[in-house]
Amino acid sequence: MNFILDLLFPKRCVTCRKFGEYLCPNCFSKIEFVQNPVCPYCERQAVGGKTHPGCAKRLGLDGLVVVCRYRGPVRNAIIKIKYKWIYDIEKILATIISQNLWKFDFPADSILVPIPLHAKRKRWRGFNQAELLGKDLARRFKHPYLDLLLRNRYTRPQVELKKDDRKKNVEGAFSLKKQSGIYGKKFILVDDVYTSGATMSECAKVLKKAGASSVWALAVALG
Ligand SMILES: [Zn+2]
Ligand SMILES: [Zn+2]
Repeated sequence: MNFILDLLFPKRCVTCRKFGEYLCPNCFSKIEFVQNPVCPYCERQAVGGKTHPGCAKRLGLDGLVVVCRYRGPVRNAIIKIKYKWIYDIEKILATIISQNLWKFDFPADSILVPIPLHAKRKRWRGFNQAELLGKDLARRFKHPYLDLLLRNRYTRPQVELKKDDRKKNVEGAFSLKKQSGIYGKKFILVDDVYTSGATMSECAKVLKKAGASSVWALAVALG
């Protein structure tokens, strides 16, 4: 099957369009990695990606795993996943995260939870890229995976909004599929891009209100 797909739709680099791979070695070498882990709130350097004590918010995020900047080849790859239905690119992104995971000091026994899409958007797109990424990482690192959150209303994409409007845009937009099994547990929210953190913070609030003891955010790229 893959062989036939390769014949019909030969792989091309998402950035330079060269045939052969979705991300050619030359473009891969241009990925801008986040050299040191950063705090989810001030985005300044933070040991292991843990939230600075001074930045910590009640019911907020305890840390952030993010490995590169939302620019160049990574930005192209993420946009391609969203709109062109190329699942294989997700594997490349999961690999980039895997190779950098040692830098981060998140609780080892955390449950991976994808940031949900609105049902309407998921139907239109056919899948949720955060789910693909979360499932893949859970498999690679033997973390439990739970599709726990629900997006109650259709929200505008955060990238289209100014910083002040992002928080309002997602306020009250998420709820839990079930209340049980959350109390005292640790979670890592998974999404493709971390933009201002409003979405992740809102989801952390929902989990912590239900008794989660720790909530981290994980994304491929920092927007
Ligand atoms: Zn290339
Ligand atoms: Zn900070």
